[in-house]
Amino acid sequence: MRRRIVAGNWKMNKDHREGARLAQELLDGLEGGDPVCEVVLFPPYTALPAVTEILAGSAVRVGAQDLYFEERGAYTGEISATMLSALGVSFALAGHSERRHVFGENDETVARKLRAALGAGLEPILCVGELLEEREAGNASRVVETQVRTSLEGLSADEFSRVVVAYEPVWAIGTGRTATPDDAAQIHTVIRGILGSIFDAEASSLTPILYGGSVKPSNARELLDAENVDGLLVGGASLEAESFLSIIFPA
Ligand code: PEP
Repeated sequence: MRRRIVAGNWKMNKDHREGARLAQELLDGLEGGDPVCEVVLFPPYTALPAVTEILAGSAVRVGAQDLYFEERGAYTGEISATMLSALGVSFALAGHSERRHVFGENDETVARKLRAALGAGLEPILCVGELLEEREAGNASRVVETQVRTSLEGLSADEFSRVVVAYEPVWAIGTGRTATPDDAAQIHTVIRGILGSIFDAEASSLTPILYGGSVKPSNARELLDAENVDGLLVGGASLEAESFLSIIFPA
């Protein structure tokens, strides 16, 4: 059966004290509940140790928002996958749209980061998604296909089994504009087909494909019910325990 995952990307919000507080509030809110999904938090680097410590022994796992593909060396300002793994981090985002469009990462860089994450035993969440002008030109599927193929082609079956994909249309991230459940289902089904053509249908049927882009408590249920949507990657609405818990336990 396919895993279901709800992940919270805090972006550049929450210092280590605020992060520890939010992680504790989430743990308290999850107590006694029985979430049908795995929960993963993506704090900024500086909050990773505090959040990892608070969550130790719980089912909630921690991920990094980015990483560098080299293991060590003269790369001032960068953090490697092995450093993250040594901290007890389990996941890493690769290719979040803000990394691609604010910091100029391309598909090749993202592919290297994804491989570095796998090499260090992390589970990468490959983020893909089209710009508004690409969607309006009818190119959404093609853009996503290139992003998926460049990052995943050549992986072994074992490596692929640890990959999670997140479809995050760039026009829906932090804009308040959400893809409809039908929009999401259409691209998620395209992605599932691409995965099946690179690997095999059985392996690709097990890959969780998350939706991200202005997810909030009011739209979480309908998005989670859409075909081939196996979970959510949540930005703004993961910054308060109450709203994130309402997404983990959607009405
Ligand atoms: C994100 O950061 O991955 C994201 C989807 O942000 P938001 O939910 O704020 O659109």
